[in-house]
Amino acid sequence: MIVYEAQQVEAIVERERYVREFRDVATFEACCRECPNYGARWGCPPFDHDTLNDLLPYKKAMIVGVKLTPRDQRMPMEQVYDLMRPELERLNGRLLELERENQGFALGFVGKCERCGNAPCARKQGKPCRHPDVVRPSLEAYGFNVSKTASELLGIDMVWSMGKNVPRYLTLVCGLFFNGPDLKW
Ligand code: SF4
Repeated sequence: MIVYEAQQVEAIVERERYVREFRDVATFEACCRECPNYGARWGCPPFDHDTLNDLLPYKKAMIVGVKLTPRDQRMPMEQVYDLMRPELERLNGRLLELERENQGFALGFVGKCERCGNAPCARKQGKPCRHPDVVRPSLEAYGFNVSKTASELLGIDMVWSMGKNVPRYLTLVCGLFFNGPDLKW
């Protein structure tokens, strides 16, 4: 079992400000194009519509970040998904619950979607996602600057791997767009 420490931080931000100050679709879609998941997973760009239209119905966003520090500071990069998986599942589960309860719009972590196991993503066959009830694109996929989000809204400075080992800590960031009173995680 992988031993880690998880510290969670949440922030509420006006949707208008979050889009204006933290979103740059051209820059982040250019990064996504370098990734093998680009155009190959349903949660990844390119999308068939202007993604801003999904956000405009909401007045606020709750941003949630987790700083994940493995006890083994020499953990090989190959284990990075094993390290992240329990927290990704916990965050996605609660995010979807809050989305349902508040008629909101969640942006999660799809990237390397593992939901279909070893089967290729249905997008590669031109078919709809097999699990649209649980798959949500990431903030990055919708053009948000996650590093700036983490540092300026959550107080977490992201760090990256310098080679074969996972970085000192990982930073997971997701969000829920919503209306109404401020939400509690
Ligand atoms: S759940 Fe399956 S079909 Fe949907 S994005 Fe993930 S891998 Fe693709």
